[in-house]
Amino acid sequence: MLKVDELDVFYGDAQALDDVSIEIPKGAIVAIVGANGAGKTSLIRTIGGMVKPARGRISFHGNDIAGMPSYKVCDLGIGQVAEGRQIFPNLSVSENLDMGAMLPRARATRAKNRDRVLEMFPRLNERLQQAAGTLSGGEQQMLAIGRCLMGEPELVMFDEPSLGLSPALVQDVLASIRDLNRDGLTCVLVEQNVAVSLKLASRAYVLENGRVTLSGTGDELLADDRVRQAYLGM
Ligand code: ATP
Repeated sequence: MLKVDELDVFYGDAQALDDVSIEIPKGAIVAIVGANGAGKTSLIRTIGGMVKPARGRISFHGNDIAGMPSYKVCDLGIGQVAEGRQIFPNLSVSENLDMGAMLPRARATRAKNRDRVLEMFPRLNERLQQAAGTLSGGEQQMLAIGRCLMGEPELVMFDEPSLGLSPALVQDVLASIRDLNRDGLTCVLVEQNVAVSLKLASRAYVLENGRVTLSGTGDELLADDRVRQAYLGM
Protein backbone atom coordinates (compact mmCIF):
# COMPACT_ATOMS: atom_id res chain seq x y z
CA MET A 1 0.00 0.00 0.00
CA LEU A 2 2.79 2.40 0.99
CA LYS A 3 6.38 2.05 -0.10
CA VAL A 4 9.31 4.22 0.91
CA ASP A 5 12.47 3.89 -1.17
CA GLU A 6 15.95 5.22 -0.49
CA LEU A 7 14.78 8.23 1.48
CA ASP A 8 17.27 10.91 2.59
CA VAL A 9 16.15 13.75 4.87
CA PHE A 10 18.23 16.67 6.10
CA TYR A 11 17.66 19.50 8.55
CA GLY A 12 20.22 21.99 7.27
CA ASP A 13 23.46 20.01 7.16
CA ALA A 14 22.30 17.38 9.66
CA GLN A 15 21.08 14.17 8.08
CA ALA A 16 18.05 12.69 9.88
CA LEU A 17 17.26 9.83 7.44
CA ASP A 18 19.83 8.01 5.35
CA ASP A 19 18.74 5.69 2.53
CA VAL A 20 15.61 4.48 4.34
CA SER A 21 13.39 1.95 2.57
CA ILE A 22 10.30 0.45 4.19
CA GLU A 23 7.11 -1.21 3.04
CA ILE A 24 3.66 -1.01 4.63
CA PRO A 25 1.33 -3.72 3.29
CA LYS A 26 -2.42 -3.16 3.35
CA GLY A 27 -3.97 -4.37 6.60
CA ALA A 28 -0.65 -4.54 8.48
CA ILE A 29 0.56 -3.05 11.72
CA VAL A 30 4.13 -1.98 11.04
CA ALA A 31 6.26 -0.97 14.03
CA ILE A 32 9.17 1.46 13.78
CA VAL A 33 11.57 1.03 16.68
CA GLY A 34 14.64 3.05 17.65
CA ALA A 35 16.31 5.18 20.31
CA ASN A 36 15.56 8.89 20.81
CA GLY A 37 16.78 10.84 17.80
CA ALA A 38 16.97 7.76 15.54
CA GLY A 39 14.68 9.42 12.98
CA LYS A 40 11.29 7.81 13.66
CA THR A 41 9.36 11.07 13.84
CA SER A 42 11.24 12.41 10.82
CA LEU A 43 10.13 9.35 8.83
CA ILE A 44 6.48 9.85 9.79
CA ARG A 45 6.62 13.58 9.13
CA THR A 46 8.21 13.01 5.71
CA ILE A 47 5.56 10.47 4.69
CA GLY A 48 2.92 12.88 6.03
CA GLY A 49 4.23 15.75 3.90
CA MET A 50 5.51 17.99 6.70
CA VAL A 51 9.15 17.48 5.77
CA LYS A 52 10.45 17.36 2.19
CA PRO A 53 12.95 14.61 1.43
CA ALA A 54 16.23 15.44 -0.30
CA ARG A 55 16.12 12.11 -2.16
CA GLY A 56 13.92 9.06 -2.48
CA ARG A 57 10.41 7.97 -3.38
CA ILE A 58 7.27 7.52 -1.34
CA SER A 59 4.50 5.74 -3.19
CA PHE A 60 0.95 5.24 -1.98
CA HIS A 61 -1.12 2.85 -4.08
CA GLY A 62 1.53 3.28 -6.73
CA ASN A 63 1.40 7.12 -6.87
CA ASP A 64 4.46 9.14 -5.87
CA ILE A 65 3.60 11.39 -2.95
CA ALA A 66 7.11 12.48 -1.88
CA GLY A 67 7.13 16.23 -1.26
CA MET A 68 3.33 16.55 -1.57
CA PRO A 69 1.81 19.03 0.92
CA SER A 70 0.36 17.41 4.02
CA TYR A 71 -3.27 18.38 3.39
CA LYS A 72 -3.11 16.49 0.09
CA VAL A 73 -1.45 13.47 1.70
CA CYS A 74 -4.17 13.50 4.32
CA ASP A 75 -6.89 13.75 1.68
CA LEU A 76 -5.47 10.65 -0.02
CA GLY A 77 -6.21 8.71 3.17
CA ILE A 78 -2.97 8.87 5.18
CA GLY A 79 -3.73 10.05 8.70
CA GLN A 80 -1.40 10.91 11.50
CA VAL A 81 -1.68 10.95 15.29
CA ALA A 82 1.23 13.20 16.25
CA GLU A 83 3.47 12.82 19.26
CA GLY A 84 2.19 14.92 22.16
CA ARG A 85 -1.41 14.61 20.94
CA GLN A 86 -1.69 18.12 19.42
CA ILE A 87 -5.37 18.64 20.08
CA PHE A 88 -6.90 22.16 20.15
CA PRO A 89 -7.14 22.77 23.92
CA ASN A 90 -9.55 25.72 23.75
CA LEU A 91 -12.01 24.03 21.42
CA SER A 92 -14.59 21.57 22.71
CA VAL A 93 -14.26 17.83 22.21
CA SER A 94 -17.00 18.04 19.60
CA GLU A 95 -15.26 20.87 17.70
CA ASN A 96 -11.96 18.99 17.78
CA LEU A 97 -13.68 16.00 16.17
CA ASP A 98 -15.22 18.26 13.50
CA MET A 99 -11.75 19.63 12.69
CA GLY A 100 -10.77 16.11 11.66
CA ALA A 101 -13.43 16.03 8.94
CA MET A 102 -12.60 19.24 7.04
CA LEU A 103 -11.05 17.71 3.94
CA PRO A 104 -13.25 16.72 0.97
CA ARG A 105 -12.59 13.00 1.47
CA ALA A 106 -14.23 12.98 4.90
CA ARG A 107 -17.14 15.39 4.55
CA ALA A 108 -19.76 12.99 3.24
CA THR A 109 -19.09 10.37 5.90
CA ARG A 110 -18.77 12.81 8.82
CA ALA A 111 -21.89 11.69 10.71
CA LYS A 112 -21.11 7.99 10.33
CA ASN A 113 -17.49 8.48 11.44
CA ARG A 114 -18.54 10.55 14.42
CA ASP A 115 -20.94 7.82 15.59
CA ARG A 116 -18.20 5.25 15.19
CA VAL A 117 -15.63 7.31 17.13
CA LEU A 118 -18.06 8.03 19.98
CA GLU A 119 -19.01 4.37 20.18
CA MET A 120 -15.35 3.43 20.34
CA PHE A 121 -14.49 6.09 22.94
CA PRO A 122 -17.60 6.59 25.15
CA ARG A 123 -15.63 8.94 27.44
CA LEU A 124 -15.53 11.46 24.61
CA ASN A 125 -19.29 11.18 24.19
CA GLU A 126 -19.74 12.08 27.87
CA ARG A 127 -17.54 15.17 27.42
CA LEU A 128 -18.55 16.52 24.02
CA GLN A 129 -19.03 20.14 25.10
CA GLN A 130 -16.02 20.24 27.44
CA ALA A 131 -12.85 22.14 26.42
CA ALA A 132 -10.40 19.55 25.14
CA GLY A 133 -7.57 20.98 27.26
CA THR A 134 -9.42 19.94 30.42
CA LEU A 135 -9.45 16.24 29.49
CA SER A 136 -7.07 13.80 31.16
CA GLY A 137 -3.99 12.67 29.24
CA GLY A 138 -5.61 9.40 28.22
CA GLU A 139 -8.79 11.13 27.08
CA GLN A 140 -6.74 13.61 25.03
CA GLN A 141 -4.98 10.71 23.33
CA MET A 142 -8.36 9.14 22.53
CA LEU A 143 -9.51 12.49 21.14
CA ALA A 144 -6.40 12.74 18.97
CA ILE A 145 -7.06 9.25 17.60
CA GLY A 146 -10.78 10.00 17.19
CA ARG A 147 -10.08 13.24 15.33
CA CYS A 148 -7.73 11.40 12.98
CA LEU A 149 -10.42 8.74 12.31
CA MET A 150 -12.87 11.51 11.39
CA GLY A 151 -10.68 12.04 8.30
CA GLU A 152 -11.65 8.58 6.98
CA PRO A 153 -8.04 7.38 6.73
CA GLU A 154 -6.94 4.11 5.15
CA LEU A 155 -3.60 4.24 6.91
CA VAL A 156 -2.78 5.90 10.23
CA MET A 157 0.69 6.64 11.57
CA PHE A 158 0.74 6.74 15.37
CA ASP A 159 3.73 8.57 16.90
CA GLU A 160 4.27 7.50 20.52
CA PRO A 161 0.55 7.10 21.28
CA SER A 162 1.19 5.86 24.81
CA LEU A 163 3.67 8.57 25.82
CA GLY A 164 2.93 9.88 29.31
CA LEU A 165 -0.02 7.56 29.96
CA SER A 166 -0.51 5.29 32.96
CA PRO A 167 0.08 1.55 32.34
CA ALA A 168 -3.68 0.82 32.28
CA LEU A 169 -4.29 3.56 29.71
CA VAL A 170 -1.35 2.36 27.62
CA GLN A 171 -3.14 -0.99 27.36
CA ASP A 172 -6.40 0.77 26.39
CA VAL A 173 -4.77 2.83 23.65
CA LEU A 174 -2.88 -0.13 22.21
CA ALA A 175 -6.05 -2.26 22.35
CA SER A 176 -7.86 0.46 20.39
CA ILE A 177 -5.14 0.35 17.74
CA ARG A 178 -5.43 -3.45 17.55
CA ASP A 179 -9.23 -3.19 17.18
CA LEU A 180 -8.95 -0.53 14.47
CA ASN A 181 -6.52 -2.77 12.62
CA ARG A 182 -8.93 -5.72 12.89
CA ASP A 183 -11.57 -3.48 11.33
CA GLY A 184 -9.25 -3.00 8.36
CA LEU A 185 -7.13 0.05 9.21
CA THR A 186 -3.48 -0.17 8.18
CA CYS A 187 -1.27 1.13 11.00
CA VAL A 188 2.27 2.42 11.44
CA LEU A 189 3.25 2.42 15.08
CA VAL A 190 6.16 4.31 16.62
CA GLU A 191 6.19 3.32 20.26
CA GLN A 192 8.69 3.59 23.09
CA ASN A 193 7.04 0.51 24.52
CA VAL A 194 9.06 -1.74 22.21
CA ALA A 195 7.98 -5.15 23.54
CA VAL A 196 4.28 -4.36 23.21
CA SER A 197 4.60 -2.76 19.79
CA LEU A 198 6.57 -5.73 18.41
CA LYS A 199 3.92 -8.12 19.75
CA LEU A 200 1.24 -6.16 17.91
CA ALA A 201 3.22 -5.71 14.71
CA SER A 202 3.14 -7.99 11.70
CA ARG A 203 6.30 -6.29 10.45
CA ALA A 204 8.90 -4.08 12.12
CA TYR A 205 11.95 -1.96 11.33
CA VAL A 206 14.74 -0.82 13.62
CA LEU A 207 16.10 2.67 12.89
CA GLU A 208 19.52 3.70 14.20
CA ASN A 209 21.06 7.08 13.41
CA GLY A 210 18.69 7.55 10.50
CA ARG A 211 19.32 4.15 8.91
CA VAL A 212 17.29 0.93 8.89
CA THR A 213 19.57 -1.58 10.61
CA LEU A 214 17.16 -4.51 11.08
CA SER A 215 13.78 -5.59 9.80
CA GLY A 216 11.57 -8.63 10.07
CA THR A 217 8.30 -9.84 11.51
CA GLY A 218 7.45 -8.58 14.99
CA ASP A 219 8.20 -12.05 16.39
CA GLU A 220 11.57 -12.26 14.63
CA LEU A 221 12.67 -8.94 16.10
CA LEU A 222 11.37 -9.88 19.55
CA ALA A 223 13.64 -12.93 19.43
CA ASP A 224 16.65 -11.05 18.01
CA ASP A 225 19.54 -10.72 20.52
CA ARG A 226 20.44 -7.21 19.33
CA VAL A 227 16.87 -6.01 19.84
CA ARG A 228 16.62 -7.76 23.20
CA GLN A 229 19.80 -6.11 24.44
CA ALA A 230 19.29 -2.63 23.02
CA TYR A 231 15.54 -2.14 23.48
CA LEU A 232 14.21 -4.78 25.85
CA GLY A 233 16.91 -4.57 28.53
CA MET A 234 17.69 -8.30 28.40
P1 ATP B 1 12.30 10.89 19.43
O1 ATP B 1 11.85 9.56 19.88
O2 ATP B 1 13.17 11.60 20.42
O3 ATP B 1 11.20 11.77 18.89
P2 ATP B 1 13.03 10.19 16.76
O4 ATP B 1 13.54 8.82 16.51
O5 ATP B 1 11.61 10.44 16.43
O6 ATP B 1 13.32 10.61 18.24
P3 ATP B 1 13.63 12.47 15.12
O7 ATP B 1 12.79 13.36 15.96
O8 ATP B 1 13.14 12.08 13.79
O9 ATP B 1 13.97 11.14 15.93
O10 ATP B 1 15.06 13.12 14.99
C1 ATP B 1 16.10 12.63 14.14
C2 ATP B 1 17.27 13.61 14.16
O11 ATP B 1 16.89 14.83 13.53
C3 ATP B 1 17.71 13.99 15.56
O12 ATP B 1 19.11 14.12 15.54
C4 ATP B 1 17.04 15.32 15.81
O13 ATP B 1 17.80 16.10 16.69
C5 ATP B 1 17.04 15.94 14.42
N1 ATP B 1 15.87 16.82 14.20
C6 ATP B 1 14.56 16.47 14.33
N2 ATP B 1 13.75 17.51 14.00
C7 ATP B 1 14.58 18.54 13.67
C8 ATP B 1 14.36 19.89 13.23
N3 ATP B 1 13.13 20.37 13.05
N4 ATP B 1 15.45 20.65 12.99
C9 ATP B 1 16.70 20.15 13.13
N5 ATP B 1 16.97 18.90 13.53
C10 ATP B 1 15.94 18.09 13.80
